[in-house]
Amino acid sequence: MLIIGPPGSGKGTQAERISERLGVVAISTGDIFRANVKGETPLGVEAKKYMDAGDFVPDSVTNRMVRDRLAEADVATGFLLDGYPRTTAQVDELDAILAETHEKLDVVLQLTADDEELVQRLHGRAVETGRSDDNEEVIRHRLALYHEQTSAVVGRYAERNMVVDVDGIGDIDAVTDRVMRAIKEGPKAL
Ligand code: AMP
Repeated sequence: MLIIGPPGSGKGTQAERISERLGVVAISTGDIFRANVKGETPLGVEAKKYMDAGDFVPDSVTNRMVRDRLAEADVATGFLLDGYPRTTAQVDELDAILAETHEKLDVVLQLTADDEELVQRLHGRAVETGRSDDNEEVIRHRLALYHEQTSAVVGRYAERNMVVDVDGIGDIDAVTDRVMRAIKEGPKAL
């Protein structure tokens, strides 16, 4: 399954909880990039320039990284992708990877939240963690980019009737319950 949501919507937290409950591995492209930045690997050095500006890491770099990750053994029983795909080129790449491995997505979960709420949350998080991509200008840029590019991604999956929307505002446990209920019910028939 996929989890899609704006920066600050709590999708990382929810992804971890869902992965625990469903017993499938959660793969966050943001986390993989951050680990590489921390380890100062060539991938991290390349990705950092884009991440610090709030821009997407180029598709060629991101796609290769996801392709490698999805070739690992732990995804055999299923996986939850957090933060990928974010562009339509990435949707195409994921389609290609899954076609090669004869796998199929079950559901695309979209966490929804109001932009102003997200800006406030991200400011709070910046103070706590000192993330270099969380100052107000960068936050607004990331949100704008999210809406601009990710809506096309959601559109692609909506055409396939795979998208389940869940309100991401509120208590963490309440959101997890909503998510688990929504996954069970599946996408609403058109
Ligand atoms: P996240 O933690 O998911 O918000 O990701 C943090 C940053 O990593 C993003 O702002 C991008 O710079 C980069 N990133 C994560 N996932 C992707 C992706 N699928 N495509 C391009 N860049 C990504």
